[in-house]
Amino acid sequence: MSRVQGKNTKPELIARSLLHQLGYRFTVNGPKNKRLPGKPDIVLPKYKTVIFVHGCFWHRHPNCKYATTPKSNQEYWNAKFKRNVERDQTNQRTLKKLGWQPLILWECELKDLEKTIAKIIAALPRTTAFSLPEELEDLALVAETKATYGKRK
Ligand SMILES: [Zn+2]
Repeated sequence: MSRVQGKNTKPELIARSLLHQLGYRFTVNGPKNKRLPGKPDIVLPKYKTVIFVHGCFWHRHPNCKYATTPKSNQEYWNAKFKRNVERDQTNQRTLKKLGWQPLILWECELKDLEKTIAKIIAALPRTTAFSLPEELEDLALVAETKATYGKRK
């Protein structure tokens, strides 16, 4: 059970790869990654958007099977989780006040590329370099249609 906060975790690499294929430019080590509230994993300056790749356990993904609570020391864990969630909420509020759109990509969602693409496409305008491998292009269109018409569960 390691804390997903280091750089280059697998979910982060998936997120970056998808963004890259969708034609978005972003930074992962720039000054804004270090200075903006919550130290966003990915910054897209052109779209004033920041992306957090959140581990479901530590950041308490709502209704997620990975957001479990250890059986022992529940008081300790609940207090810790509460602080994490509050910190995330504060960071997001501050980012919005500063004119940045925060986007959360959950670790479990990144196992589902279609869902992740839908989320990205819903939050960001299309780029001119928007390109995906053929099999993903189909997926993206499906995802986009779902996002546009709100046919999500
Ligand atoms: Zn989750």
